[in-house]
Parts: sequence; C-alpha cells; structure tokens
Amino acid sequence: MGGLREVRSLAGRGLVVNNTRLSAELPFLSVTGATERRGRLKAVYEEARECVRCPLHQTRTTVVFGCGNADADLMFVGEAPGANEDRLGLPFVGQAGKLLDKLLGEIGLRREDVFIANTLKCRPPGNRDPHPNEIESCQSYLRSQVELIEPKVICTLGNFATKLLRGDTTGISRLHGQEEVRVIGVRAVRLYPLYHPAAALYTPSTLEMLRSDFSRIPELLAVGAPEQPDLPHRGEDGSRSPAPPRQPPHALQPPAARELEREVQGSPWRDRTAVGADPDPAPQLGLF
Ligand code: URA
Repeated sequence: MGGLREVRSLAGRGLVVNNTRLSAELPFLSVTGATERRGRLKAVYEEARECVRCPLHQTRTTVVFGCGNADADLMFVGEAPGANEDRLGLPFVGQAGKLLDKLLGEIGLRREDVFIANTLKCRPPGNRDPHPNEIESCQSYLRSQVELIEPKVICTLGNFATKLLRGDTTGISRLHGQEEVRVIGVRAVRLYPLYHPAAALYTPSTLEMLRSDFSRIPELLAVGAPEQPDLPHRGEDGSRSPAPPRQPPHALQPPAARELEREVQGSPWRDRTAVGADPDPAPQLGLF
C-alpha cells in the first residue's frame, strides 16, 4: 500500500490521495514532511473557506482559519473571531492578541513560532458566545489542524476551547495551568489550559495567573511530544508507534460539543469594532 507518500495532486477543493479525496471529515494519517503538511493544511483551509455547515456563514466576512507556523510545536486555540479578525482574516489581532504577543515575547517566542487557531472559524454576530451547534459543525477543522500540525503542546485559551478539547464541562478556573495528555483526533498532545487573554486584560490577578502559567510553557515544550497512538502509517520505514494509552471518549466528539456550558459572557473576548478591511484570504495562506 502506497500510503500518504503517494500524495500527488491538489484538485478542486480537496487533496487527492490514491484517488481518494481527503476532506476535513476524514481522519488524517501521519504527516511525513513539511511540504506535504502545508499542502494538506491548505486543502483543509480551502474547504473551510467555503464552509456553510452552520448559520455563521451567512454573517461572516472572512473565515478565520488560523495562522502561524505549520510545523509549530506549540499551538494556541482561542474562542472565535471578533470583528477585527473577521475583517482581516487573522486570529487574535485585537487587544487580546496584543497581550498574547506580549506573553509569547516574555517566554522568548514570536507569533511566527506558533500556530494560532480558534474553536470557531467564523465570527458569531455581535461577539455572542459560540453556540453548541456551531462548535459541533466546526470541530473537524480544528481536529484536522491538530492532526496535520502535530503540535507537542496545545494551550487552550479560555473555557470554550478547553471544554471542547477536554470533552467535559470543567471550567478554566479549575483547570488553568494543569497540563495533561489528551488525544485529539489521531494525535496525542500535552493539553495546557490557560485563561483567555481577554479575561486578563482588565483583571490584574488573572493576568498574573496567566503570566505564571505561560512561564511553564518552555518546560512543557522541552518534555516533548507524548507517546503517540498507533497509526496506520508512520515513519519512512513504515514502522509503527507503540500502542496508545487509552483515553476516555472525549475531544471533538459531537456529544462533548453539545454539553458545553456557556460560562463566558460577551466582550472583551473579541473586539466589537473592526479596523481596516482585507477580505483577501492570502494572509492566512501566506503564514503557513
Ligand atoms: N480573537 C480571536 O481570534 N479569538 C479569540 O478567542 C479572541 C479574539
């Protein structure tokens, strides 16, 4: 069997592998090279750009797929695009994004070193909280991003991303700063819940907790990726990884999405006022 090394053509909206069109709905096999990773990420992006799975497509300006380094060891998952993100097509471009950049700088990282995505790829009107059906509709894009980027550490920012990727309703105030190994799709990662930067903007005590939690990110990255689940294809020589530690049913399953509580209220999570206008999707593609 040829496996993913036989990826040869990008056609239409999907990537064709051995005459099979891959989509965000299909589980991804192990990613073997940077070029392949980018190609497949772009294929998912092309699919997301035209997404009509939930009503948010009617009100969005731009699908905010995410941006950053496709080979990143560290990934952040926020809540949903706000007005600025919706106009510019990039995640975390407002005040919360500035704080995220600052905190990254304090641990010696830049935005280009990491990959930043959101739970929802489209802006909820008026920056209301994501609805369970929207999270459920969107989750396969995030799962594909994790499977393709293969980060070692995923920092969930705030309640929505944390609840989705952990598959339960425990809130961020109980979980922040406590890493655990979770399997997202086919990928085992170190999941590290953090307060959302927007929560820290006007609350000094939250900022201090966020900063303190951030300071441990380098040490988590240094530990490396957790043991991986057994995959259909791994390694140049076809060797397989050891059997995975079994996880309870959890992340990115529809029932988990449905159970999400709506604890987070309104702005300042996402900026209400848009600045600039750049409906060109190229910036997103250019960054990974
Ligand atoms: N901007 C984003 O892209 N996501 C958030 O969660 C908040 C602001």
